[in-house]
Amino acid sequence: MELLAPAGNYYKMLAAIKFGADAVYFSGKQYGLRASAGNFSMDEMEQALKYLHSEGKKGYVTVNIFPTTEELEGIEKYLKDVDKLNPDGLIISDPGIFHIAKESNLKTPLSISTQANTTNVSAVNFWAAQGADRVIMAREIFKEDLINICKKAKCEVEVFVHGAICISMSGRCLISSYMNGKDANHGECTQPCRWNYHLVENTRRDRIFEIEEDERGTYLYNSKDLSMIEKIGELYDMGIASAKVEGRMKSMMYLSIVTSVYRAAIDRAKEMGLDYVAEKRWIDLLAAISNRGYITGFYDGKADDEAINEDNALLNNSASFLATVESSTDDEITILARAKFSVGDSIDIFSPELKESKIKIDALVNVDGNLEDNTRPNYRYKIKTDKKIEDGSLLLKFKELSE
Ligand code: SF4
Repeated sequence: MELLAPAGNYYKMLAAIKFGADAVYFSGKQYGLRASAGNFSMDEMEQALKYLHSEGKKGYVTVNIFPTTEELEGIEKYLKDVDKLNPDGLIISDPGIFHIAKESNLKTPLSISTQANTTNVSAVNFWAAQGADRVIMAREIFKEDLINICKKAKCEVEVFVHGAICISMSGRCLISSYMNGKDANHGECTQPCRWNYHLVENTRRDRIFEIEEDERGTYLYNSKDLSMIEKIGELYDMGIASAKVEGRMKSMMYLSIVTSVYRAAIDRAKEMGLDYVAEKRWIDLLAAISNRGYITGFYDGKADDEAINEDNALLNNSASFLATVESSTDDEITILARAKFSVGDSIDIFSPELKESKIKIDALVNVDGNLEDNTRPNYRYKIKTDKKIEDGSLLLKFKELSE
């Protein structure tokens, strides 16, 4: 079972691989959902795929919008251009794009996106018969169904294991289009399901009724996030080909922590199979990053009102992202600061393979060689330390874990 992580841009791709992903998925500048992620130019895609293959890793390219007929213009050339870069898969939602891909005789394997809402074994095998190599299941599937699908599927099966989920059917949603013209099916979702709402009676539209659950409003549609960390042994045992993490627009901290936790979990599942048990430390780490509360979606039965975070649209977040370690020598690290911290602070270091340690900041030296008392975001500093700290590690502050 591969660990498939999101890569919103080139730097996030490097971090995902560093923190243990087997593969990443990303979009070109056209035809992929997540319009606000940095996404990859053709040159970046070429460079990324060369890098991934040199490391023995895989890269999947999303082409998963639902286009109008007009928007199909140019898609055949785009697919052929991407095909020449040797990606390990194209992730497609729309049957029209899939048809064009098949007619174009691409050598790249084709995956059916979760956006295509494949919910049963017949639908999986329909896609397999059309020439799909893998189907990324809709998220609304019960465990028993998934076991059955894995047994009978005539192609690979991929599932999401972590990240935000939609209250609509795996993203086929028009709320954002309706509210402000930003189409979720073209990657522009503005997440109005997380906004706060009031009640208006049809003939008294000037009267707004509060339906408060807290002082900020109510969150009728605010789904909790998916976390399958306790189910990874079962997913491994049933033969899932790929365990996917959501979040091409999420932070470097989210990406690094989630990737390294699921790396450890999949490695444990390979050893233990159905005897797999998630470590408390992994669960604590996932709880420390931004989340809306976790659920297992439909896996353990139909999602009910417990699946909605009605109390608070704000994200839990007990870890703060302070800096990335860009390079290191035996006695010094160079960091790119992301937030303010100060001389005298004790900081958590989060390295690949879930290694955690601490350093005390005795001095901060800026690029001109001058001492400073505090960091400023997006500035580089040198910090003396006798600890061996890997390049790419993160400097974090875990409020609850470390205090
Ligand atoms: S508005 Fe909410 S439910 Fe709809 S696509 Fe966006 S995130 Fe999903």
